[in-house]
Amino acid sequence: MLNVVIFGGPGSGKGTQSAVITEKYSLKHLSTGDLLRAEMAAGTELGKIAKSYTDAGNLVPDEMIVRILAKAMDGIGQAKGVIFDGFPRNVAQAAILDEMLAQRGEKVSVLLDLVVPDETLVERMLFRAQISGRADDNPETIKNRVKVYHQVTSPVVDYYVAKGVCVKIDGTGSIEETSALVEAALDKLV
Ligand code: ADP
Repeated sequence: MLNVVIFGGPGSGKGTQSAVITEKYSLKHLSTGDLLRAEMAAGTELGKIAKSYTDAGNLVPDEMIVRILAKAMDGIGQAKGVIFDGFPRNVAQAAILDEMLAQRGEKVSVLLDLVVPDETLVERMLFRAQISGRADDNPETIKNRVKVYHQVTSPVVDYYVAKGVCVKIDGTGSIEETSALVEAALDKLV
């Protein structure tokens, strides 16, 4: 199976690129952000607790993420692989993902790191705020999400560099330019 981690700061284009490649490579898209937003929209207990974290731009506790992810992994079915979007978001989650995959005789095939400077991330999220309606796309929360990304999330890259599966992608171009780079990286693996 092709197990892809799509990685990058908030607003780096993970969700957009996931949508583009999911179909082309017959992957199952697992976005922890989308799974959390579905729980929040459904008003579940988990969703209510998660909202207090996401609204502030902080990470939701690992146990909650593992719970929703395990449920989603059971539904993978016939997909040729999985694209993990928004997970792992800290080194502890990276170890959890490796363990979850190892139990299935699988491992991370590649981590695609979408590299985008902070100013661009902030600009994109502020622009997205006008259409997304996402409670966490507001100036104060955005600032904290970028901070949390640098402090807690970006060390995940080193974890996978050490495993020799990290590919850096310039994420500053257009959607099409970035997808071309992403597809070139994936085509080497399939
Ligand atoms: P973005 O990457 O644009 O910030 P996401 O949709 O991936 O958007 O995540 C939105 C929010 O959901 C995060 O700010 C965080 O609060 C929460 N979240 C998503 N994935 C995780 C995760 N793996 N661990 C902890 N919190 C998460």
